[in-house]
Amino acid sequence: MMARGEGALEASLIKAYVCRAAEWVTREAMQIHGGMGYAEEYDVSRYFVDARVLSIFEGADETLCLKVIARQLVGRVGK
Ligand SMILES: Cc1cc2nc3c(=O)[nH]c(=O)nc-3n(C[C@H](O)[C@H](O)[C@H](O)COP(=O)(O)OP(=O)(O)OC[C@H]3O[C@@H](n4cnc5c(N)ncnc54)[C@H](O)[C@@H]3O)c2cc1C
Repeated sequence: MMARGEGALEASLIKAYVCRAAEWVTREAMQIHGGMGYAEEYDVSRYFVDARVLSIFEGADETLCLKVIARQLVGRVGK
């Protein structure tokens, strides 16, 4: 799709979804580990922090959802 100049909407939808999914998965992983999950000695605490930045860089969540996804969906309805 990208080779045909298409797929920006689909890629943006996937990016928005997987970033949220990563936050949820790592949150649950930390929760399962209890207090030790918060300790920096455990990798799971770092995974949670790293997952949090995914919806900030390479297209911040609000910008992605409003400027890319919503605009394209509204544009499609208008056609
Ligand atoms: C670890 C890390 C690595 C990075 N690496 C790179 C890199 O290699 N190359 C590079 O170029 N940049 C890099 N960045 C920068 C990154 O791309 C920006 O942080 C990101 O684009 C968000 O921009 P900002 O920080 O200026 O936040 P802002 O643009 O100030 O946004 C702050 C918040 O406001 C929201 N917002 C902004 N505008 C609107 C709007 N119109 N409507 C509603 N909400 C809005 C955003 O969604 C966000 O939640 C990196 C950032 C981090 C944290």
